[in-house]
Formats: sequence, structure tokens, C-alpha cells
Amino acid sequence: MLEQLGISEEVNNYFIETEKVLKGKFDEIDQICEYNSMKVLHAFQHHQIAMNHFGSTTGYGYDDIGRDTLEQVFAKVLGAEDAIVRSQFISGSHALTVALFAFLRPGDKMLSITGLPYDTLHEVIGIKENKSSLKAFGVQYDQIELIDNDFDIDSITSYLQKNKVKLIEIQRSKGYSTRESLTIDKVANVIKKIREVDKEVIIMVDNCYCELIDKLEPTEVGADIIVGSLIKNLGGGIAPNGAYIAGRKDLVELAGERLTLPGEGREVGPTLGINKAIAQGLFLAPSVIASSLKTAIITSKVLEDLGYEVSPKWDSKRADIVQNIIFHNPNDLINYCQGIQFGSPIDSFVKPEPWDMPGYDDKVIMAAGTFTQGSSIELSCDGPIREPFIAYQQGGLTYEYGKLGVMRAITHLLGNKNA
Ligand SMILES: *Cc1c(COP(=O)(O)O)cnc(C)c1O
Repeated sequence: MLEQLGISEEVNNYFIETEKVLKGKFDEIDQICEYNSMKVLHAFQHHQIAMNHFGSTTGYGYDDIGRDTLEQVFAKVLGAEDAIVRSQFISGSHALTVALFAFLRPGDKMLSITGLPYDTLHEVIGIKENKSSLKAFGVQYDQIELIDNDFDIDSITSYLQKNKVKLIEIQRSKGYSTRESLTIDKVANVIKKIREVDKEVIIMVDNCYCELIDKLEPTEVGADIIVGSLIKNLGGGIAPNGAYIAGRKDLVELAGERLTLPGEGREVGPTLGINKAIAQGLFLAPSVIASSLKTAIITSKVLEDLGYEVSPKWDSKRADIVQNIIFHNPNDLINYCQGIQFGSPIDSFVKPEPWDMPGYDDKVIMAAGTFTQGSSIELSCDGPIREPFIAYQQGGLTYEYGKLGVMRAITHLLGNKNA
């Protein structure tokens, strides 16, 4: 079977040996998975989810009891007052955009305290010129860099004492940067410090890739609002598309009015038959996330042992499902991504090449042999073709499929090394 899957015996043996070392780490992940499964199960039971919630609406989507109740289930899982969970959000970036346009008004100021935000938000904010940006509507923007992979608390608090800020954005996952992702403890700490000097400012967290990694969500440690994608963690690989915004009720209402229209807000939005998939995706999410974490950890350990630079290391505390391999040359990055594609269930016969993607500044190579287009809770790997040539790998619907994909990628990488 290994030969048929294009996995070398040498690589397979590495994995067998490595799994023994990872036993304790995997047990920790299983414990968090069990805890989060309890959270999810309790939310389903508390809101009495039943078959009638899997019904469908078309057209305006009035009185969609499944949609409305599932939003309450998401809110409960996330420890939030309320949530809007819709397929009308095209992506995580769209939900972030809706949230920003919903909360900010001309003359207001937005402050990022995690440095430069995710690539797709540059034109949204106006960091990169766009006629439809927040900047074009008169919203000001400023940012404070992280120091040593943590918040610059002194600069943040003194900035807030000197300036009126309407909204603070915290991006937990690293995006296409080289910094570390931010654990819930670090987020909790900075929120506490912010509240000591500013009780009013809206604290919004880009929670993409970070849901259910730990036992707490940012909304449980004082964040006003969190945003994430359903083709990442909380969709569990089953949701066909969509995103969520969860947190304070008044803010969720504002987001609804911006997503649809003032006056109709959350009352409209047909679900077109996806309620069951949304529910089932959330139900599976804790264990799919655990599989993704295990896939990331074994990738990190094996590649480090083979002499590659990796981040995070296998035994460090993780904040998200993303694993970086820093290749320092374009060939290894491209070969590795191609290997992930060859190890996928869908389009395994396709060879991905770097290309210019809308919203991104550099050419990007993307391996995504996924059931859902662009889904990155499924095993996927991508990287901008720029120094130091970092692969961003994430996902794995099951640990077994995740591992098999990575074994194929490593076989391909080692077989195509530069002479
Ligand atoms: C994935 C991601 C997003 C949103 O990406 P979409 O592809 O638009 O869903 C935003 N921020 C971070 C940090 C991300 O990782």
C-alpha cells in the first residue's frame, strides 16, 4: 500500500518511531478535545436541537428556526452573548470586513495591536489604496508591533491614554508572517491591561484557525467580538462555506444590519439546505481540530529531525492549527506543497504552481486537494514565493489522512532535493 501511495519505506519508518515520542503530547490534545466535545454537546442539548432545525428556507429566509437556533448554539460554544453564522459570509475576510464596516464610523480610529493585519485586509483598511476601503470612508488606522512574539503592553496602554480609539484589532494566528501565533493566555493578559485604561474601546479578535485549540475562547476572557471562517476550524470540514461573528449582542446586531440591510438585519438570509451541514460540522469540529493538531505536531517533529527549520516546535504550546516549515529556498517549498497535493483525496493528479492570487501581494503556491474549495481545515499547504520561503501547512480531517498526506509530501521533498 505504501508504494501505491508514493510513500517511501524510510519515511514511513520515521513516522512510526516519531509517534512513540509524541504519545504524551497526543494525550494532552485528546483531553482538550474531550473537554471541547462536552462544550459542544452541552450546547446542542441546551438549545434542544431537533430534526426541524435541519429544515431549509429560500428567498428572503424569514423565520428560519434552524439558522436562528444554531446561531445560539455557536454562541454558547464560544462563550458569547450572541452570534451570527451565515453562508452569506463569503469567507473569513468578508466577515472581518462586515464587522469593521459595521462598528466603525467616519472619524473613528482603528488600532491593530498585532502589527500588520492579514493580507486580505490591507485593501479593506486602506493600507493598500482602494476606493472602497475604510480609509476612503474617513476611518483612521494605526498599528502597534508585537515585541518578542507578545503584545507591547506599555505602548498599547500609553497609546490609549493619548488617543481616542474606537476599535482594537487582535489577530491571533500569524497569517503569512514569521511571528508566533498568540495563545489565549497572552490574549487574556492584554485585554485585562487594555481594560485598565479604556473601558469603552471595542476589542475585536480575528480568531481564524484558533477556535477550540484550548479550553477558552477570547470571548470568555473579555473580548467584545470574535470572527472566524467555517472552512477552517468550526466548520469541521463539513460546512460548505460561511463564517461567524460572535460576541456582544449589540455588536452582533450591527454586523447583521451591515451584512444584509438596515432594518432587516438578521431576520433575513436563506439557508438553502445547509443547516444540517453547519450543525454537523460544529459537532465534529473538536475532533477534526485535534486531528489537525496531531498532523501539525508530527510534521514538525519529523521535519525537524530531518534537519529542516520548523515553527512551532513539536513540543511548544500551540495557539492555532498552522505549522510552518522554513525552507530557505523556493524549490523545497514548491516540492513540499506539490507533495501535499499528490497526497490528497481530490485532485491528487494535479501539480500546483505559484500564481498571482487576488488579495495577496506575492505569488502564492497552494496545495488544496480538498472536498470544499479553499478549505484549510482539510490538509492543505501554501506559501508566498518570497524569502525565507515558508510553507504554511494546516488541517487534516482525520489524523490518518493528515499523516498519509504529509508522508507523501516528505517522500516527494526528499526525492527532489537540489544536488
Ligand atoms: C484565513 C485567515 C483569515 C481569513 O481568510 P479567508 O480565506 O478570507 O477565510 C483572516 N485572518 C487570518 C489570520 C487567517 O488565517
